[in-house]
Order: sequence, then structure tokens, then C-alpha cells
Amino acid sequence: MEKKRIPLVAGNWKMYKTIAEAKQLAAELVHGLEKFTQVEVAICPPFTSLLPVKTLLEETSIRLGAQNMHWENAGAYTGEVSPLMVAELCSYVILGHSERRAYFGETDETVNKKVLAAYAVGLIPILCVGETLQENEAGKTGEVVERQVKLALQGVSLSMSQETGVPLVIAYEPVWAIGTGRAASGSGANTVVTQYIRSTLADLFVSEIAQSVRVLYGGSVKAGNAKEFFTQPEIDGALVGGASLKADEYIGIVQAAASSK
Ligand code: PEP
Repeated sequence: MEKKRIPLVAGNWKMYKTIAEAKQLAAELVHGLEKFTQVEVAICPPFTSLLPVKTLLEETSIRLGAQNMHWENAGAYTGEVSPLMVAELCSYVILGHSERRAYFGETDETVNKKVLAAYAVGLIPILCVGETLQENEAGKTGEVVERQVKLALQGVSLSMSQETGVPLVIAYEPVWAIGTGRAASGSGANTVVTQYIRSTLADLFVSEIAQSVRVLYGGSVKAGNAKEFFTQPEIDGALVGGASLKADEYIGIVQAAASSK
């Protein structure tokens, strides 16, 4: 039987916040999010703040994620952080974010290596997929999103546990909507999730799995427009960038998720 999908709001803090600032924001979130028990909340600070923030989250249900990692568990890879290191601190890891694909040479192949490496250490990937403006205007959204999902999940076998559901989160993040203030429409994003993401998952896995994976929307989500996404039947929450850096905005987004789902 399919598992009910618990809404997830995940905050990608990108390269913002010193340790002191991160602790301040995390403390505000701990205080402000206490009452929203029906929504799962995760935050993904920069690497330097993972440990201090983890300490603050100890008695809470807010989960911690990293924004990236290498695929090897150890080695001569100066400047990189390994899956084993991330797994010491986090439950989630964002993989294949469009900023990493655009600025750091990440490809479908390296994203796939990272997804496999995440599973090997028990991390849950938040796999980001989405088309650029040019691809969108050329009518290639479906082709691009299907390819990204398929290649990222090559060699992955998924099963479902009654307690935790399927250990995979996909974030549909149209690149043209990220950090631009120009969000997709709720119904447009829902269509992409249904036609290209869940249908690809159904081709790769059994349909029970395809229906149980949580799929988030990301791209200029704010407290003021979050409801439009959370009321869509196939969208299970949001991956939030800019608006996750302000406690009030982020709490407003979680509140919208709690009242919509
Ligand atoms: C993101 O970085 O994943 C993102 C969705 O950013 P923003 O919310 O700022 O568009």
C-alpha cells in the first residue's frame, strides 16, 4: 500500500550565514516551528555551520541537510567533503542543485555517483532537477526533467518502509525560477511533477514507489505564494532558498504547508 506523503519544507541556505548568524537563525526557527508537527522541516546550512546548528536541533524534530558532497568516502580530494563526513551530521543531502550544475561542472553522471554514495552511507538525497529558461522556451522541459531523473537514479533500487516511507526526495526546480522572484505557477509545476517526474519514477520502479516519493517544488517560494504550491495534489512541499534565510518568511512557509496539506 502507498504511504501517505508527509509534507517537507527544506531550506537551502546556500553560501550564506557565518556560524554565529547560523546559530541565531536556527534558534529562531526552533522557537517558531515548535507547533507545526504535521510538516517535516529540514535546514541545510553551509558545512561550517552543520555541527553548531546540529547541537541546537538536538531536542527538536527539525532535520539537518548538507548542500553537496563528494562521492568518495575518503581520498586526496582537496576542499571536498565526503558522504561519510556528511552522514555523521545530517539526514539529508541536496544533490544536483542547478547552481552546482551551472558553476561547478556537475553532470548527470556525477549526480548519479553522489546519489549512490548517499545511499551507501544512509543519507537521503534531495535530488534537484529542472530545465533552464532556454530549454523551457524550446519546449524541452519534459525531455530534460525525465533525463535528469533517469540518469541520477541509475543503479538505484528503492524500497519502502512503513515508518519512513521511500528514502528519496525530488525537488523540481525550474532554473529560471531560482532566485529570480519569478516562480512557476502551481498548476504548471504540478503538471511537470505528474507527467515527467512521477511517470519516470513509475518506469524505473513500481508505481507504489513512484506515488510514495516526496516531490517538492523549488524556485522563488515565499510565505506569500507557498500555498499555491502546497495545495497542488502532487507537490509535497518546497525546497526554499532565499526565503529560508529569514526566520519569519520560513516559518510562514511552514505554516502554509501545515494549513494546506
Ligand atoms: C534554491 O536555491 O533551491 C531555491 C529554490 O532558491 P530560491 O528559493 O531563492 O529561488
